Amino acid sequence: MIEIIQFGDIDVHLLQNICKEVEIVFGECVTSGKKLQVLREYFDEKRRQYESRHFLEVLARHAKNSGAEKILGITDEDLFTPGLNFIFGQAYMSGRICIISTHRLNPGFYGVRENEALLLERCAKEALHELGHCFGLEHCSDRRCIMVFSNSITDVDKKTKKFCEKCRI
Ligand SMILES: [Zn+2]
Ligand SMILES: [Zn+2]
Repeated sequence: MIEIIQFGDIDVHLLQNICKEVEIVFGECVTSGKKLQVLREYFDEKRRQYESRHFLEVLARHAKNSGAEKILGITDEDLFTPGLNFIFGQAYMSGRICIISTHRLNPGFYGVRENEALLLERCAKEALHELGHCFGLEHCSDRRCIMVFSNSITDVDKKTKKFCEKCRI
């Protein structure tokens, strides 16, 4: 079973949609309704971002008391990891936990009109991608495969929600 858990307030419709998409690929998925939090003191005021490891640490603590096989965290905060200006998400390779950020998946971030369908599609893609890592998949060279590394929102939009022949679990 996959558990989806939110940091702060995430739109319930968005959570349910991700859950539905995850279920198609990985089997049973639940949204517990519980909300996790990362301490505000970890917010990097200069960058206006959080370093993603703080989210992974909170998830790792939560995982100890969860029976879920994999746990996907969702935040609307902007995340970075040392060496990268931002990340859409991060996972422990072959681990139990991963995180995605909706921040840069939102069309509004790029100054274009809000588009819920597009936001849902992007969130589903990133959720499947990070869970793919949790299930041991590495980055794929197939541009259309969900496991290709996304450097920009254009990359996210170019890839499909599908796992290529090689990555199919
Ligand atoms: Zn990746
Ligand atoms: Zn692939």
